[in-house]
Amino acid sequence: MTKTSTGSCLCGSIQFSVSTKPIVTMVCYCEDCRKGSGHLGQILAKYDTKDIEITDKDSTMKEYIVTKTQSGFPKKKFFCGNCGCTIHTQPTKFNGEITIIRTTLLDENFGQFVPSKGIFVDAKKSFVEGTECEYY
Ligand SMILES: [Zn+2]
Ligand SMILES: [Zn+2]
Repeated sequence: MTKTSTGSCLCGSIQFSVSTKPIVTMVCYCEDCRKGSGHLGQILAKYDTKDIEITDKDSTMKEYIVTKTQSGFPKKKFFCGNCGCTIHTQPTKFNGEITIIRTTLLDENFGQFVPSKGIFVDAKKSFVEGTECEYY
């Protein structure tokens, strides 16, 4: 992937762009992603922080540290204080060098970020087992 992909929060105050392939694209089914996204899982792309350009033109970016994570490592969650949309997270164990961005915020080219794996999938199984879903 060499084409630049851009995304933003709901109100557009915070924008970001990526022009390299992510380290990995995944669906995370942890409790934080479930509560934060309102869906069973959240599609995330892992990047070297230096490969993501984030602009916060109206200085609305806020930070919340999630301490009770399923991985056991706290993570910083960055969100827009104006519209409430989460932009990205940074697991503290990587000292800010790794940024995990929500690819669902991309304006286009979303199909380039097909998840190759799921993490914390047990939570999903317990929810969908016994239902009549034809595919998960
Ligand atoms: Zn916003
Ligand atoms: Zn998660």
